[in-house]
Amino acid sequence: MKKVLNEMKLSFPGLSENERFARAAVGGFVSIKNPRLDELNDIKTAVSEAVTNCIVHAYRDSVGVIELTAKLTEEGVYIKIRDRGCGIEDVKKAMEPLYTTLADEERSGLGFSVMQSLCDSVTVKSKPGSGTSVVLTKRLRTKL
Ligand code: ATP
Ligand code: MG
Repeated sequence: MKKVLNEMKLSFPGLSENERFARAAVGGFVSIKNPRLDELNDIKTAVSEAVTNCIVHAYRDSVGVIELTAKLTEEGVYIKIRDRGCGIEDVKKAMEPLYTTLADEERSGLGFSVMQSLCDSVTVKSKPGSGTSVVLTKRLRTKL
C-alpha cells in the first residue's frame, strides 16, 4: 500500500442507527481529499453494506462491537470493517451474487456484489466463531 497520509479509527456498537453514523463518518473523513461526489457516494454505500452485514449477520441475536479503520493514501482510500461475530464458513460462496443466509428476511444476497462493483478491491477474511474483516480500497481521481 502507498504511504498513509491520514488515518482514523472508530469503534461503535452494532445498532442499526450506526449504519448511518458509519456512512457519515467515513464520508466526512474521505472529504478531506476533495473527492468527486460519485466516488464519495460509492465509498459511503460500500461502507454501509459492510456495516449492515456486521449488524444483521455477525451479531444476529446480539449487539457487538464494530471497528472501522480508514486510511487516506496518495492514490485513494483504504477502509477496514471488522466484527467479532459469528464469522463466515465459506467466504467464496458468501461473496457469490444472490447468495444469502437470510432469504426469509428479504435479504437479496447482493451486498458483497455492490461493494465489489463500487470499489477497486474487496478482501474478506473470516473465521467461524471469531469474526470477519472486510477491507475495501478505492482509488480517487483527485489529489490532495
Ligand atoms: P443484502 O446485502 O443484499 O441485503 P446479504 O447481506 O445476505 O443480503 P451479502 O451482503 O452479499 O448479502 O452477504 C452474503 C452472506 O454472507 C450473508 O447472507 C451472510 O451469510 C454472510 N455474511 C456477510 N457478512 C457477514 C459478517 N460480517 N458476518 C457473518 N456473516 C456474514
Ligand atoms: Mg448484506
